[in-house]
Amino acid sequence: MAAFPYRDRDRMLHILTPDYGLISASARGACSVKSKLRPLTNLFSLCNFEFFYQKERFYVDDGEVIEAFLDLSDSIEHLTAVSHAAEVFRDLTRNSPPDSKYFDLWAYTVYEISQSEHPVLISRLSTLRLLAEAGYAPHLDSCCICQRPVRGEVSFSFRSSGILCGRRDCKGKPTEDSIRLSEGTQALLRHILAAPLNRLYRFTVSDDVVENASQFLDLYLCEKMEKDYKKLDLLEFPFEMDLSGLKRNCD
Ligand SMILES: [Zn+2]
Repeated sequence: MAAFPYRDRDRMLHILTPDYGLISASARGACSVKSKLRPLTNLFSLCNFEFFYQKERFYVDDGEVIEAFLDLSDSIEHLTAVSHAAEVFRDLTRNSPPDSKYFDLWAYTVYEISQSEHPVLISRLSTLRLLAEAGYAPHLDSCCICQRPVRGEVSFSFRSSGILCGRRDCKGKPTEDSIRLSEGTQALLRHILAAPLNRLYRFTVSDDVVENASQFLDLYLCEKMEKDYKKLDLLEFPFEMDLSGLKRNCD
C-alpha cells in the first residue's frame, strides 16, 4: 500500500495482508537494482510474501509477484485513483482489527481500477464500501428519522448520516449540512453497499449520476474519516501538485 526509502538501501513497506491486517515490513537492500526483493516492493502489487519475524518486526525474506497491475501506470487518472483509494484503505485498516474482508475488497478494487474506463469513480465507490464494512454505512433505505420509505430525489443529512423524508418533523433545519441525492445515485450507492464483491463494480451509470455520486462520496468520506483527502485534486490542478507520492518504483 506504501513504500518508503529506509536506512541505506532498504525499503519500508506497508502491506495489507488477509490475516494480520496492515503491517509494516522492512525489505533489506530492496533499493538496489540487483536485489531479488526489488520487484516485491513496487506499489499496488499483489504478492506472496515470506516474512522473517523477529522482536515483533516483519522482514521480507522472499516472495513472488502474483500480479503487478501494470495497467495502473497507463494514465495519471488510473494512478491517482489507486493512490487515493490506497490512502483511505491504509488510514482505515491501520486502526482496525485484522479482517480478510478489507484485503478482499482491496484486491477487487485494485483490479477494477486497473481495468476500468472510470477509475476515479471506482476509487470513490470503494471507499464507501470500505466505510460500510467498518460499520459506517449511510442509512439509505428509509427516512433515518421516522423510518418511512422515501421516493424520488431525497435530501441526505450528514449530521444524521442518512436520508430524510419531506415531513415537517424530519426535514431538518435548512442550515444543516445536506446534499440532494437523485434516484439514480441512491440506486448506485445501495448497490455498492450490498452487492457481493464479484459483482460490486458491475453497473452502468449516467454522467449525472457520476457527478452527483462523486460529490456525495467525497463529502461522506471527509465526514467519516475526519480528514481532507487531496490526491484526487491532482486531476483538476495537475500543475500544482507534488508528483513524488505517485511514483511506483524504488528509485
Ligand atoms: Zn421522516
